Amino acid sequence: MSRVYNFSAGPAVLPEEVLKEAADEMLDYRGTGMSVMEMSHRSKAFETIIKEAEADLRELMNIPDNYKVLFLQGGASQQFAMIPMNLMKNKVADYIVTGQWAKKAWQEASKYGKANKIASSEDETFSYIPDCSDLPISEDADYVYICENNTIYGTKFKTLPNTKGKTLVADVSSCFLSEPVDVSKYGIIYGGVQKNIGPAGVVIVIIREDLITEDVLPGTPTMLTYKTHADADSLYNTPPAYGIYICGKVFKWLKKMGGLEVMKQRNEEKAKILYDFLDESKLFKGTVRKEDRSLMNVPFVTGDKDLDAKFVEEAKKAGFENLKGHRSVGGMRASIYNAMPKEGVEKLVEFMKKFEEENA
Ligand code: PMP
Repeated sequence: MSRVYNFSAGPAVLPEEVLKEAADEMLDYRGTGMSVMEMSHRSKAFETIIKEAEADLRELMNIPDNYKVLFLQGGASQQFAMIPMNLMKNKVADYIVTGQWAKKAWQEASKYGKANKIASSEDETFSYIPDCSDLPISEDADYVYICENNTIYGTKFKTLPNTKGKTLVADVSSCFLSEPVDVSKYGIIYGGVQKNIGPAGVVIVIIREDLITEDVLPGTPTMLTYKTHADADSLYNTPPAYGIYICGKVFKWLKKMGGLEVMKQRNEEKAKILYDFLDESKLFKGTVRKEDRSLMNVPFVTGDKDLDAKFVEEAKKAGFENLKGHRSVGGMRASIYNAMPKEGVEKLVEFMKKFEEENA
């Protein structure tokens, strides 16, 4: 068996320990004689899996009691609609557009009400986070929306926007569990798990209880109403059971690693290795304003498309996979999520140094 260093933006690298454990339990999950894939979601064994997953996530993120944790489906993209359908009581929401995902969320919300783009960094290809300390927040805004870590462009909000008392909704798909967060500052924190937590197919929504109501936009499907899932503890219908099981294992791995404070330190260390190299390199350069750099997604370029392509190809041959930048921006991007070992980043930098020497 040989595993590569996988720098994919998602689905992405998972802890090897978790994959091995899942493999060991594949045919017979703890004496049940079946795989978790084959198990009723109403069984005792699965009830324990989902309850433990939620309890471990609550502990890791220190989630206050007045927040529900929902395990849903439909990808992060489904939340682009579900959020306005459930929250737009006044039919007004403010969006901060810092990348393609925030833009898509804003466009989707525009179908349901007045979605105001109150700030954007599109003027400079989303390479920075706009100043959000004093934005023209709408008086009747039902919420203010951000994408906290911009997977494609490699930017991250280092301070949350001043929402002037309005509910903050954040897509944290690509920075989920990468560092501690103060959940109480948000109305909703949500993300697809396929980057930092588990296999694609699960979306975790952490939502303040007062936002879960029957008062949703007319025509909102039962399945797209938060209350449906909150009332049924995420078991209204068949949940993505195997995915939730893997998420649960990753939560236990994170607890064993020391929790989110430790992950933050590790992620800072890893990112620093790469950013320090980019800052001194004569060939490669980072594309993001320094103070807005993500710890998770690191885009970089040589400035020459052919050389970028050559780099990606040679890196692949050397065992570094998925370094090609998003199709909308080109260049390269190394996604270095929680499960990417420090050694993977060190080896990548070594390889980049060698490539730089050979292509000077
Ligand atoms: N938000 C962010 C920040 C993302 O990176 C992605 C996917 N890469 C999405 C939303 C969309 O996620 P999904 O494919 O699960 O709908």
